[in-house]
Amino acid sequence: MQENVKCLIIGAGPAGYTAAIYTSRADLSPLVIEGMQPGGQLTITNEVENFPGYPEGSSGPVIMEDIRQQAIHVGARLRPGMVTEVDFSSRPFHCKLDDGTEVVAETVIVATGANARWIGMPGEAQYRGFGVSTCATCDGNFFRNKTTVVIGGGDTALEDALYLSNLCTKVYIVHRRDQFRGTMALQKQVLSTENIEVVWDTVPVDIVGVKQGFIKKVTGLQVKDVHSGEERTLEVDGVFEAIGVSPVSDLFKGQLDMNEQGYILTQPGTCRTNIPGVFAAGDVQDPNYRQAIIAAGAGAIAGIEAGRFLMGS
Ligand code: NAP
Repeated sequence: MQENVKCLIIGAGPAGYTAAIYTSRADLSPLVIEGMQPGGQLTITNEVENFPGYPEGSSGPVIMEDIRQQAIHVGARLRPGMVTEVDFSSRPFHCKLDDGTEVVAETVIVATGANARWIGMPGEAQYRGFGVSTCATCDGNFFRNKTTVVIGGGDTALEDALYLSNLCTKVYIVHRRDQFRGTMALQKQVLSTENIEVVWDTVPVDIVGVKQGFIKKVTGLQVKDVHSGEERTLEVDGVFEAIGVSPVSDLFKGQLDMNEQGYILTQPGTCRTNIPGVFAAGDVQDPNYRQAIIAAGAGAIAGIEAGRFLMGS
């Protein structure tokens, strides 16, 4: 089946839905392919205090559902599924969906966001889902009244540790430096929470666990002091990795210009990629700020630019 659209939006986080709101209002009748995780990273964020419009803060899923409903309200068409192939070699652009549909689009807005990174410790892969996770809000509940460790020193690590401190008896934070990267408000909260212990200047080495048949269980995290090189094992039931994110851009490799980490390059101050008519917005093109509100702003820019592009200005 072939479908012709004025604007195809790939991705459904703050950037994708905001681009959908702007392109709908510009009469571009956008089609949004929502991917595997509609709502993006905010859907795994528990408390959000810095998204404007929510005086007392809100939860990530609530904010994302509000933006999604707003996109529907102004006429955007949202569809679950994945884009499996894109061809930006000539306009209109040809994009294949996982249900076999070919979408022929006059403009494309890439808003595929970013995914959590894994450290890559030797034993990590075999304990993923058995006590090793990158999502405290998804998996924290399995560790009620247990001991966990969060690895990292950014906002995600601090938020995860605070979230887990309400469920767990004790939470360690293992950070490779002697200073956090996360915002001061979160730092203060973390440092004044009694059941959080920060293990500074320390790197993770490996997951320690036990296996009995198909049952696997984490029992500890082996860590190393960066100064003395001394290794020890923190006895924990769960390990949460919060060491940052990688852009979701593999689909566009070889067609859109990217930096070494895979962030799509856009012309400064715009969302224009190297292909006229293809725009990128949000965490997939933002290695610096990676904030929901900035992704939403970029989605607005991409939406306005797609409209202007089609009007030829
Ligand atoms: P991040 O800011 O990049 O922090 C990653 C942390 O992991 C850093 O402390 C880093 O250490 C550490 N790290 C990186 N690689 C490591 C490795 N291989 N081994 C051990 N530690 C490692 O990532 P993030 O916390 O996920 O935040 C991403 C973005 O989202 C940021 O812009 C953040 O502000 C934003 N965010 C905002 C909120 C909020 O505003 N509520 C919540 C979550 C995230 P170094 O510090 O030494 O580099």
